[in-house]
Amino acid sequence: MVEIRKPIQVAEAVERVMNNVHKLGTETLPLEDTYGRVLAAPIIAKHDVPPFDRSPYDGFAIRAEDSAGASGTDRKAFHVIGEIGAGHVADRPLERGESFRIMTGALIPEQADAVVMLEQTVENEGGFTLRKPFETGENISRQGEDMRQGETLIEAGTIIHPGTIALLATFGYAEVCVAKRPIAGVLSTGTELLRVTDELEPGKIRNSNGPMINAQLTRIGIDYKSYGMMEDDLSACTEIVKKALEETDLLITTGGVSVGDYDYLPKIYESLGAEVLFNKVAMRPGSVTTVAVLGNKLLFGLSGNPSACFTGFELFTRPAILSMMGCTAPYMPRIQAKLGDDFKKANPFTRFVRASWSMTNEGIIATPAGFNKSSAVSSIARGNCIIVLPSGTRGFEKGMSVDVLLLGTEQGAECWEL
Ligand code: AMP
Ligand code: MG
Repeated sequence: MVEIRKPIQVAEAVERVMNNVHKLGTETLPLEDTYGRVLAAPIIAKHDVPPFDRSPYDGFAIRAEDSAGASGTDRKAFHVIGEIGAGHVADRPLERGESFRIMTGALIPEQADAVVMLEQTVENEGGFTLRKPFETGENISRQGEDMRQGETLIEAGTIIHPGTIALLATFGYAEVCVAKRPIAGVLSTGTELLRVTDELEPGKIRNSNGPMINAQLTRIGIDYKSYGMMEDDLSACTEIVKKALEETDLLITTGGVSVGDYDYLPKIYESLGAEVLFNKVAMRPGSVTTVAVLGNKLLFGLSGNPSACFTGFELFTRPAILSMMGCTAPYMPRIQAKLGDDFKKANPFTRFVRASWSMTNEGIIATPAGFNKSSAVSSIARGNCIIVLPSGTRGFEKGMSVDVLLLGTEQGAECWEL
């Protein structure tokens, strides 16, 4: 008899997964190894930035008062008493009518309170003249104008990107406290599966889910241990799942979660004593997505259908992994866009459509990326986002406003009009 499963809403499913996330703790790493990691502590400004008043231009440091009354017919003359390159300091304060030639980034000398850009001067022997008065503070980068000592700049739970690295370097963080990263186990099940290197045979297909999931993990900076492919064999699959659970922090399987004769994952969860959080979600594709928990470890039973598998990872596995690392924004970014094509088929389940978004004169348009069945591989490859079409009795028309979940940023623009 076919088991009747009761679907739960996507939001409820996500919540159940997130409620079962166990944080992994922290570790301290050299700065250069922290790209993509999650900050375990906030970044607090250890000092002002810039740490001293400095010149934003190549020019001359002057006392503004000496330029008072300057005009085209009454040019004020300055005597240049020396040069300050970036990294150097003046050997004495300025006096009336004097200036230092100063380079971008150099510390403003004592008594100087304005910088004249080279282009604003006419040089002469021993100095220069200028034709406009300067105000105190003009063309000076003030100490602390970027960041003030003690300020909290980036909160814990933020993913470190190149800008964050720059900030950490600015404050001398040679080592950074970050969240530990989980190791994910990946296992593809299905007797029909061939390796990438195998020739096709009747009834068989190459395993695309395994490499895809590995890459989805890599995209969020997560290491994986691949358990390859297993035929649909209950005892062999059970053994490998047990082994994987000993060796990894979470397990992602693909295939075998449906109600077919050879779908063994539900039996495996049962025999391991894992608690099934859900085994049916009101979504297309991927309604059979199943998530179980054993001890501290989540078991993601993703559908074998490639589009369902892909979507299941992005909706459930990705936020769970990021949350294990304490990431405070673990969900894919969401924007609104106009639907680029009709999607007339009404559905009682929320539909996640692989799509491609782009900016046009009419705003952001998200267009379904072709063949969109749950078995599709092509639309995963062509898509750069996922359109969310709410469940209901009506279809969707081109031009309607829809929610769009953004995927990675591999897809570039062919040209820019900036
Ligand atoms: P299942 O979830 O095991 O019922 O599989 C659903 C569909 O996905 C079947 O047509 C499978 O052949 C296909 N499939 C299962 N695993 C994979 C895989 N690793 N790569 C590509 N297709 C798969
Ligand atoms: Mg199968």
